[in-house]
Amino acid sequence: MSEEKPILSVRNLKTYFDVTKGIFTKKQIVKAVDDVSFDVMENETFGLVGESGCGKTTLGRTIVKLYEPESGSIEFQGKDIAKLHGKELISFRKDMQMIFQDPYASLNPRMTVGEIIKEPMIIHNIYNTDEEREQRVVELLKIVGLKPDHIRRYPAEFSGGQRQRVGIARALAVNPKFIVCDEPISALDVSIQAQVVNLLKDIQKEMGLSYLFIAHDLSMVKHISDRIGVMYLGHLVECGPSNDVYHRPLHPYTIALLSAIPIPDPDVAKNKQRIVLGGEVPSPINPPEGCPFCTRCTRATERCHKERPKPIQVGTRTVACHLYEK
Ligand code: SF4
Repeated sequence: MSEEKPILSVRNLKTYFDVTKGIFTKKQIVKAVDDVSFDVMENETFGLVGESGCGKTTLGRTIVKLYEPESGSIEFQGKDIAKLHGKELISFRKDMQMIFQDPYASLNPRMTVGEIIKEPMIIHNIYNTDEEREQRVVELLKIVGLKPDHIRRYPAEFSGGQRQRVGIARALAVNPKFIVCDEPISALDVSIQAQVVNLLKDIQKEMGLSYLFIAHDLSMVKHISDRIGVMYLGHLVECGPSNDVYHRPLHPYTIALLSAIPIPDPDVAKNKQRIVLGGEVPSPINPPEGCPFCTRCTRATERCHKERPKPIQVGTRTVACHLYEK
């Protein structure tokens, strides 16, 4: 983290979906993101982790304005994105890009790689001539580790890792300031994952980008992130510097998540105690009244079932758990 200046500020964000079936049935609301607040600094990577269905992808999509929030605010470069219109909205769309989870589904199979990367340049009117655009595509292909002659090929001719590199080049085509990386490595082979993460790190250093890096693998998130936010059932339950969260987790859910990560050293692994979370993740349509984690937490008390813990500052991080209240 080089500068302590937020490029993105999310405050009390709620994204709900009405999933009521039929007009005579009781209203059913999925609270996918429920009262989430955090900042992402300039040139920083903020990692967002949690099990699938915890709301992290919905949060990422709300930030890029693919979903409308129920309430709360998202400020990008000091401006509330809900109030952006006309030129300001176009400029926001250019500055905030997204890399998608599935490199197979996110690229149009009928377009060549060159056309895919050029498309956002044309939409945002970035270069005057097709020659200039073509030149930039070749540069971007080199930056992401592909060859200039890949420009005329189709997505089907590439491996998963190469396709994700095309997705990264497409996101970079409009010179963004912020990229939401939505599980960019989860569909890739383990051997390719580290390559893509290292590529993203190198590009960040070179171009001064900020990332929101969404993943369910805490060890990979730790590798790329300056700070980590842990989500559970639509709530941010712990947030702080990557090393602190990874090596000294506070929230019982973070502790359980970390205990599930395999350790390559058999001597260390022998002494490690794995916490197996019991029970199911509650439905976001009908979340527990008190702490969202109370149905699976081994340390839950009566109070946890009745009262929702508020995020409090504990040293370098915020934790939403009654155990840390004084
Ligand atoms: Fe567990 Fe209670 Fe803390 Fe929730 S508030 S994580 S149930 S101890």
